[in-house]
Amino acid sequence: MPALDPELRRALTDRIRYYNELGIYDFYRREPRSAAMESGEAVTLQPESREEMSARKVAPTATVAKENIAEGLTPKPEQSIADPVSALKLIREDLGDCTRCKLHKQGRKQIVFGVGNPRAELMFVGEGPGADEDTQGEPFVGRAGQLLNNMIKAMGIRREDVYIANIVKCRPPGNRTPERDECETCSPFLMRQIAVIKPKVVVALGAVAAKNLLAINAPMSELRGRFYDFMPAGARGNDPAWQGARLAVTYHPAFLLRDPRQKGEAWKDLQMVMKFLGLKPPKSGE
Ligand code: SF4
Repeated sequence: MPALDPELRRALTDRIRYYNELGIYDFYRREPRSAAMESGEAVTLQPESREEMSARKVAPTATVAKENIAEGLTPKPEQSIADPVSALKLIREDLGDCTRCKLHKQGRKQIVFGVGNPRAELMFVGEGPGADEDTQGEPFVGRAGQLLNNMIKAMGIRREDVYIANIVKCRPPGNRTPERDECETCSPFLMRQIAVIKPKVVVALGAVAAKNLLAINAPMSELRGRFYDFMPAGARGNDPAWQGARLAVTYHPAFLLRDPRQKGEAWKDLQMVMKFLGLKPPKSGE
């Protein structure tokens, strides 16, 4: 492969450094969406191409990897820290008073970073904060949060045992669904949180969380009922002792509040997770 033009190399280095300063360390190629995907029709489960930059076939990015242009660029600040409490603190500091996407100027009261056990075996990931979460600065504290607490309790564990976060950390106005650019700007921080916590299982609550974590577009009926292998972006190879998490998809508690008939289906999803983690439901009275 011909050597990269020095001008281009410099420009790419500057661009990568710029993204690093924004807190973005991992780069992906996403295939253009098909008309079926855009229209929301059901599509066969095909992972979107989520290759890392090094796998990109077209110059100049392939050359970037070959020449290891990223050498000397800032590693993720938390990478050298073994203690997950300190590592999460660093990610929070890196996020700062974030203005990276437009949600920062659409009425958020505060950033809702995530809460729970930094060494959790089980993580729940929702879509974004609602009004109560925005006020209290903690994910899943409203009515949906109460239901999530009950679901966690039914699994024989406590809320403090798990870690809970969202795809976006600022409340979308009127509780609208976070937009794609907002998810893509914010989710690298969630990926870094997952890479630090190293859970055995991640449960995606609802289609928005599932689609963003898995980078696949499919209806809930196809997403649920199985485990996916999940490795957060950029974590590959960092820790030989952690080969990624299993990811399961279930309904968002807010959806279950609107349609309680689906609670039985959600319980089946959680039972699959319990079986994998060796959890037993509490005996009555506990
Ligand atoms: S949603 Fe995420 S990326 Fe957007 S402003 Fe809030 S913290 Fe920053």
